[in-house]
Parts: sequence; C-alpha cells; structure tokens
Amino acid sequence: MALQQQQILKEEIISLKDRYGRSPCLAVIMVGTDQASQVYVRNKERVCQRIGIQSKTYLYDDIEEEALILLIQALNEDDHVDGILIEMPLPKHIKTQRVLETIDSRKDVDGFHPDNIAHLFLGEPGLRPCTPEGMMVMLDNIGYSLEGKEVVVVGRSHIVGKPVALMALNRHATVTICHSRTKNLKEVCQRADVLIVAVGKAKLITASYVKEGAVVLDVGINRDEEGKLCGDVDFEEVQKKAAYITPVPGGVGALTVTMLMKNTIEAYKMKGETSWIID
Ligand code: NAD
Repeated sequence: MALQQQQILKEEIISLKDRYGRSPCLAVIMVGTDQASQVYVRNKERVCQRIGIQSKTYLYDDIEEEALILLIQALNEDDHVDGILIEMPLPKHIKTQRVLETIDSRKDVDGFHPDNIAHLFLGEPGLRPCTPEGMMVMLDNIGYSLEGKEVVVVGRSHIVGKPVALMALNRHATVTICHSRTKNLKEVCQRADVLIVAVGKAKLITASYVKEGAVVLDVGINRDEEGKLCGDVDFEEVQKKAAYITPVPGGVGALTVTMLMKNTIEAYKMKGETSWIID
C-alpha cells in the first residue's frame, strides 16, 4: 500500500514541478547517535529520492538548544524549504516542546505544532501527524467507513493515541481511549469494531481481546524474545478472528514515511496557493 501511495505522490510531484518550477524540499534534523534514528533518517532520504522530493539532512552528535533554534529559524526563512522535521527523541538538555513550537507551523510536516493540533481538534484542514494519518489512508484504501463504528484506541500519546482518536471522532466514530490506568482493558477492547493499539508492549493484545470480524491496526514496534520485530498485537492468533489486521513490520509503519512525504507536498502546495513565497 505504501509503494502504491508513493507512486501517486511521485506523479503529483511531476505535475507540481511543471506548475511551480521546482520540487518540494524536506529538511530533516537529527541530534544524537541513536542507530535506529539514523536508519529512519536514511530511509526518509531514500523515499524522498524515489519520489522526487529534495532532502536536506542535518546530523549532529550533539548541539546546544540555542544553536538548534537558530537553525530552525533559518530553515523557516528559507524559501526553498517546504517541510522541517526533527527526529525524536532529542537529548534531555534540549526542551523538545520549545523546539517543536519554533518550527513555522506551515512547515511542520510532523503535525506536532500546537497550531496544527488545534486544526485537528477543530476538524479544520492542516498538517496532520503522520502515523495516525497513515491509518486513515489505510481505512480509506480498504473502503472502511468509521461513521457510527466503535473505535477503541489503546495508548494516549501525543503522537499516536490522542491524534488518531480525534481523527476517528472527526469521522463520526464513537471513540474510547485506553491507557496504562484503564480498568478492564480486555472488556473495553472486546467492544471495538476498530481496535487501534499504540502502546509499545509486545503481544499485549491477544485473541481474547478482539471481537470476531474487528479491524485491528497495530502501531507498536517491539522486539520479541528472539529479537525479531513485532507489534503490540499477537498477530498469529488475532488474524484468525480479525477481518483486517496490519502486520509489524510492513503495516502502519510503512505508511508513516509516505504520509511525511504527503505532508511535505501539502506544505509546498500551500505555499504555492497563498504565494507566501515567490520562487
Ligand atoms: P508512548 O510510550 O508515548 O505511549 C504509550 C501509551 O501506552 C501510553 O499512553 C500508556 O498510558 C499506554 N500504556 C502503557 N502500558 C499500557 C497497558 N498495559 N495497557 C494500556 N495502555 C498502556 O508510546 P508512543 O510513542 O505512542 O508509541 C507506542 C508504540 O508505537 C511504540 O512501540 C512505538 O515504537 C510505536 N510507534 C510506531 C510508529 C510507526 O510509524 N509505526 C510511530 C510512532 C510510534
């Protein structure tokens, strides 16, 4: 599904380039030496290259908060940069929220700026967080409407649980959000027509949590006892009951980067339409 979506974006970029005279450009900033993050950054560069987005990568083993703020301000002012992404997590000495709020909300392709969160809250157009948006695209792709459905979201993080719950609500679902202090998690999950799990605990959700014929979207990325990647859902068992289930790897995660590309194109188009830059 991710490759198919990327092909659609690639074709759109060709026509946008004809119209506006340049390709969209994404700037990615990474601070630290975390190997998994380095892999994510390289993957973003590869996808950018594949679909025709220019990428600028800024890698720092470490950086002072003020220097990082200055870099973001410079990228905000740079007319040739459409999207700015900060790879998370940042080192502890840097205030993450301050950094995120420094990004011009029109270039905030992760959708974490308070302005964009407000747009999502109000159901207005804006740049949306990538992982939740990817799940909406998945449901659209299989022709599944959330209207009137019982959606249970397990996990209440700012980057996945809360935004995906709002998106489902905006699509007229009845939404329940569960978290570490939820009582009777199993009983609540059993109600779900659509069960979205974003916790980070391998195989937390077993078949007994899942209603027959439910749609199950597994966001978790964990390692099992043998060190293999796995989700929060016991895929082998739950797939026997679910009408639709996403695997890990290759499910929700595969679409996240594609949604980042989609947001970069959206940011670029917003510029073109409002002419807040002249290229
Ligand atoms: P987080 O740690 O910020 O939040 C985890 C949430 O799970 C919290 O709200 C917590 O209350 C809840 N929780 C913890 N234990 C629980 C329990 N026993 N029962 C019910 N709820 C419980 O995590 P996050 O950033 O939202 O990420 C969640 C998982 O999704 C991680 O494995 C992460 O790696 C993965 N992730 C994947 C993608 C992707 O692109 N596929 C993107 C972001 C996160």
